[in-house]
Amino acid sequence: MPYYEQAADALAAATSVAVIGHVRPDADAIGSVCATVGALRQLGKEAVGLIGQADPFAANLLTIPGAEEVQLADHLPDVDLIVTVDCGSIDRAGTLAGAIAARAEDTVVIDHHSSNSGFGRVNLLDFDAESTTIVLGRLFEIMGITLDPPIAHALYAGLLTDTGSFRWGSPAMHTFAAELMSTGLDVRGIAVDLLDSGSVADLRMIGRALASVEVHEAGEHRVALIIADHALVQTGSLPAVEGLVDFVRSLDGTTLGAVFKETVPGVWHVSLRSNDIDVSRIAVALGGGGHVPAAGFTFRGTAAETTEALLGELRRQ
Ligand code: 5GP
Ligand code: MN
Repeated sequence: MPYYEQAADALAAATSVAVIGHVRPDADAIGSVCATVGALRQLGKEAVGLIGQADPFAANLLTIPGAEEVQLADHLPDVDLIVTVDCGSIDRAGTLAGAIAARAEDTVVIDHHSSNSGFGRVNLLDFDAESTTIVLGRLFEIMGITLDPPIAHALYAGLLTDTGSFRWGSPAMHTFAAELMSTGLDVRGIAVDLLDSGSVADLRMIGRALASVEVHEAGEHRVALIIADHALVQTGSLPAVEGLVDFVRSLDGTTLGAVFKETVPGVWHVSLRSNDIDVSRIAVALGGGGHVPAAGFTFRGTAAETTEALLGELRRQ
């Protein structure tokens, strides 16, 4: 077991804890923050959830119990323990990265990203786990945490979304889902909140993005690429923009899919997906990280320069 006991001991010894999820959070990040804060409070500890960015995160994540309390922050409160959840590398803590680096000895890292090399004193890294919330489920069992409905909801949110709605993963993900559901979760409602709801404006944005898909060749690879520039990104909600990549995951005749999202003019968040190749290697080479089938990186430049960077790396690998 990869450092579960050590992480449980570190959390048990703390009296006040800052729990930090990654920037541009998804449901696994916010679900992990909320579940961890809830578990720590159950043990009578002071706990606060933080995201190191100034911009609000996707509104649909506010359906996760406790998410409305998660603070956007650029400094750490006065706490004796720092816990990062779902942060594959320290830079994913955003504006809190420097403060965490300065207190690595007081930091517990809990994550499932295979590119995570561990940046805390205790690094609970379980690369077989489908979501960080699965890692937390195992940890909470050791810690004797009761899975009450809010904690179960938060854990389920990460499990549902990081498994692509249970499309990939081990038998354990279903066992864990069953355990969480037994607390009385409205799983249909959670799926609507996190995955199915959307606006007409989102649908139009998706339509324009999909109409622009192009296939590029690079060495032995063929990549399906969607470029969503700043003007287009601004017409859709964050979850709709983040969902674009699901359309190019496994198109016929391609080895991978990519979506370039220009969230700030000249700054591109690139999402990579593949069922055939290890996209985390490509993302790491370009300064990012992630998992074998799903990874990402950030690139500064024009769309053409970002394309050339990706195709160049694909030719090399
Ligand atoms: P997404 O494409 O959904 O943004 O990210 C896919 C996976 O890659 C996620 O697990 C995410 O944490 C990781 N990832 C995305 N962008 C970055 C990045 O810039 N740096 C790192 N280290 N990981 C990233
Ligand atoms: Mn995750």
